[in-house]
Amino acid sequence: MPNPKYKTPKSKTRRRRSHLALSAPNTVPCPQCHEPRLPHHVCLNCGTYNGRTVIEVEKTKG
Ligand SMILES: [Zn+2]
Repeated sequence: MPNPKYKTPKSKTRRRRSHLALSAPNTVPCPQCHEPRLPHHVCLNCGTYNGRTVIEVEKTKG
């Protein structure tokens, strides 16, 4: 069975993983309700896009 001759040192593992961090998605404030939403997406808080209602959003609390 082929096997690695040496174990991977912790520093090499950590160096490799230094590029694996996730970044927070970019958001823009909704022009209708000013809630943060993804750019070029329907606002999930009020259901509008480009000034008109596109989807109906259920008003639920809790
Ligand atoms: Zn909105």
